[in-house]
Amino acid sequence: MLSVAALPGRGRLIVLIGGILLLGFLTTNLISFRVSTAALKATILQNELPLTSSNIYSEIQTDLLRPIFVSSLMSNDTFVKDWLVGGEQDSRQVTRYLDEIRAKYDVFTSFLISDRTRQYYHFSGPTKIVRAGEPNDGWFFRVREMTQPYEVNIDFNAAQGMEITIFINYRVLDYEGRFIGATSVGLKLDTVSRILSHYKSSYRRGIYFVAGDGEVTVRSEGAVIQEDNIRTARGISTIANEILTRSDGYFEYVRDGEVMLLTSRYIPDLGWRVIVEQRESEALSALWRSFITNLAIGVGIILLTIGTIAYAINLYQRRLEDMAVTDKLTGIGNRQLFDITLDQALKLRKRVSLPLSVLLIDIDRFKSVNDTRGHLKGDEVIRAVASILKDRVREADLLARWGGEEFILLANNCRLENARELGETLREAVASAAVLAPDDGLRVSVSCGVAECADDDDAETLAGRADRALYRAKDEGRNRVEAEYA
Ligand code: GH3
Ligand code: MG
Ligand code: MG
Repeated sequence: MLSVAALPGRGRLIVLIGGILLLGFLTTNLISFRVSTAALKATILQNELPLTSSNIYSEIQTDLLRPIFVSSLMSNDTFVKDWLVGGEQDSRQVTRYLDEIRAKYDVFTSFLISDRTRQYYHFSGPTKIVRAGEPNDGWFFRVREMTQPYEVNIDFNAAQGMEITIFINYRVLDYEGRFIGATSVGLKLDTVSRILSHYKSSYRRGIYFVAGDGEVTVRSEGAVIQEDNIRTARGISTIANEILTRSDGYFEYVRDGEVMLLTSRYIPDLGWRVIVEQRESEALSALWRSFITNLAIGVGIILLTIGTIAYAINLYQRRLEDMAVTDKLTGIGNRQLFDITLDQALKLRKRVSLPLSVLLIDIDRFKSVNDTRGHLKGDEVIRAVASILKDRVREADLLARWGGEEFILLANNCRLENARELGETLREAVASAAVLAPDDGLRVSVSCGVAECADDDDAETLAGRADRALYRAKDEGRNRVEAEYA
């Protein structure tokens, strides 16, 4: 297929359209990603993480209610009061009492201290004397001076393997309201541990408790902080002060290049803060995944669009090109196509010396066809002659409509004698054909002028010779082939 030069800038046009689409798509996606990231981050910081700490808070509160109740029960029990006031006779009685309380209310430990004797009665039996200077006994002297009826104290249980235990220490008063001792029940922090592992596994959140001085008292398995104190821990140390001075709040900090989202909530009963934190990347991973998916789909659609546009442009360009070189009436090449092709052939001939001939073919007395049959029939005759000629022309040769009722044939690799023979064949074919269908008896003939390209020929001189030969054919009676030698 011969074609004129491709539309200039077609590639650039496609790149431009692709660029605009990609830019627009990327911009809107990025903006929406940023907006939803910010929204999700706010939700996590302001709702989800605080909700987790609230849940932990209320679970701990619920769990504390029972031991507080038990401790209160003990401190108000007339048996305990009477026994203390009555001079602490028979310690087995109180030991049995303590053990029953422990077993009945399913607490971890229970004990009683007398203010008068400083005797420490433990549910398991053995007793000791508490002393003011002894660190493990310090709590008693604190409770002794307290104004509120009880305290919640978190401590390491010295009597039972140094486990973290919550103690509810209650003041015992005699019937006149004087301080006569303290009761205490302890429960292990397994509630806290259970909560911690639950939240870790279901929300991929790190949870830990921090005492007032920043010491990390309990931490969940996956907690990012491994240091003992948040004041000295990497990253979080920058906001530790703020965390420890506020009762609650949400924060962000960077640890090892990773953004951490964090909320803290003060639990007054424990004097601790529960800290719930999550890696920003984990919190936003679902968004990130959908962003990537959207991106991939979008790029795919853009490529498809660009492909479609490129295809359409190519298609229309080819149509334009075809239209530019095709004769509308006959569908064969037009004069422009012939000119370009002849030009190329002449250039080629300068390098490769192959014979080249042209045949100029003109319908005889065509005016009379128009006059007698009308213009439309005339058109039909031109189409029919073109079709007859085209059927007998080689692929390598080019048949074009030269103008009006004239055709020109560029015969490659063809000497004058062969061209004349070809002309003869064509003339014969037209003369013997019924050009109108159904055959209405009209017979038309063509005259043909033939010329072979000589070394010093250009398009004009070559066509000029063929034209002269055609004139001669007309002169000599039409329906004949004449050749003009160079
Ligand atoms: P001859 O070539 O044998 O000397 O006679 P002629 O009648 O063919 O010669 P002339 O060149 O004088 O007339 C050609 C006519 O062809 C003139 C014009 O009206 C007609 N013609 C040119 N183009 C078309 C066309 O596209 N359609 C039709 N129907 N007629 C055309
Ligand atoms: Mg003519
Ligand atoms: Mg004519």
